Amino acid sequence: MSTQAVEKISLAQEAWEKRPLIISGPCSAETEEQVIETAQRLAKTGKVNAIRAGIWKPRTRPGSFEGVGTKGLPWMQQARKITGLPVAVEVATAKQVEDALHFDVDILWIGARTTVNPFSVQEIADALKGVKVPVLIKNPINPDLELWIGAAERVAKAGIDQIGLIHRGFSNYGNTEYRNAPMWHLAIEMKRRNPGMMMINDPSHICGRRDILQDVAQKAIDLDFDGLIVETHIDPDNAWSDAKQQITPEVFGEMLDRIVWRKEDI
Ligand code: PEP
Ligand code: MN
Repeated sequence: MSTQAVEKISLAQEAWEKRPLIISGPCSAETEEQVIETAQRLAKTGKVNAIRAGIWKPRTRPGSFEGVGTKGLPWMQQARKITGLPVAVEVATAKQVEDALHFDVDILWIGARTTVNPFSVQEIADALKGVKVPVLIKNPINPDLELWIGAAERVAKAGIDQIGLIHRGFSNYGNTEYRNAPMWHLAIEMKRRNPGMMMINDPSHICGRRDILQDVAQKAIDLDFDGLIVETHIDPDNAWSDAKQQITPEVFGEMLDRIVWRKEDI
C-alpha cells in the first residue's frame, strides 16, 4: 500500500474512533473559497473531527441547485490538506463513489433519498468491494427500519467494516415543528437492533431551521448517540441549499459548548 493510502486510512480511522464524533460543513460545496473558509473556521473551533459537503445534491424538485459536481472534489481535497481533517461526501452512484475515492475523500455517506432504493444502494455497495473506507448510512426518508437495515447489510456484505448510521428524521406531509419528524423511538429501535454500530444525529435535516438545533442535538446526546453531523456555512442566509437550517462555524462551536455531554465524553 502506498504511503498516501496509509495516511488516508489513518486520518479516517482516527476520526472514526472519536466520541463524540462531530462532522460539520456546508450543505453544498458552492465555491472553492467557501469550502476552504468553512473548513478553516470549523478547524479553528477545535471541536470538529471531519468536514462534510454535498458535491452532488439530490433535490426534490428540478431547477434547484443540484451541486457543483466533480469539480468540487479538489476543493475538498484542498480543505483536507489545509486543516488535516478528514472529509466526508454523499455518494449516490457507483461513478460518484469512484470519483470521491479518486480525490481522497475519507468518509462516504449514503443520503436519505438513496437509502430508500435497494438498487442504488446495491450499486454503491458493488463499487465499494475491495475498498477500505468508512460509510455512514442515513435513515430512509420514510419511517421504514427494514430499508435502513437492508442498506447497512448491503454495504457490510461488500466488505465494508466501518459502517455508521445517521438519524436525520422522517418525511411528513404538511407543516409541523420539524422538517423531518425525529421519531426518536425508531432511532432507538435501530440502535437496539444494531448493537455495536455507531449512530450519529443530524439535527440540521430534522429541524430545517436554526432555532431548535440546540434542543435536538442535546436530546440526541441524552439518548446516547455517538455524535452529530451539523450543516455550517460562512454566510448561512445566502447558502445555495438548505439556507434556513445552516449556522456559522462559530455559532456551531458555541452550540457545542452549551451541550451537556455525557461524563465519558468530557
Ligand atoms: C444532506 O446531508 O445535505 C442531505 C441531502 O441530507 P438528507 O439525505 O438527509 O436529505
Ligand atoms: Mn442539506
